[in-house]
Amino acid sequence: MAASARFLDPAGSRYGVPTYPWGWSAVFDSDLATKSQLRREGLSTAGLEVAAQIMWRSNRAGNRSGVRTAALYRRSLARPVRPLTPAQERALARAHLARHTCTACGRLWDLYLPTGNGRRCPPPFGCEQIEAPEGFEHVLAVAA
Ligand SMILES: [Zn+2]
Repeated sequence: MAASARFLDPAGSRYGVPTYPWGWSAVFDSDLATKSQLRREGLSTAGLEVAAQIMWRSNRAGNRSGVRTAALYRRSLARPVRPLTPAQERALARAHLARHTCTACGRLWDLYLPTGNGRRCPPPFGCEQIEAPEGFEHVLAVAA
């Protein structure tokens, strides 16, 4: 901790914003998260102010100080990533459905049909097969 103590500035008196050594921000304030952490949780940093930063030594820093920083945002203030518009959702659903629907017989599969055979019922079933062979029932979502 001695090496990273100089990166510890919870009040922001030294660096202007509250600053924590790498890995320590959650210990001090679990509401803080990096942009990529929020993104993984489906949250956006759009419109958010930088609430704090983490600071760490790195050979890849690309500056003379050898110090890298990453902005931290308040999870409690982050909003969900903008949802799709209804039109976008319909287009997505159509494309999704098309990839699951046999172009020859219209049967619906719960797997993506390969484009290699013209997106038809995949072997070994084939379009003429009414029932899925034993052990493959789970593959057939809905018989058209
Ligand atoms: Zn088919």
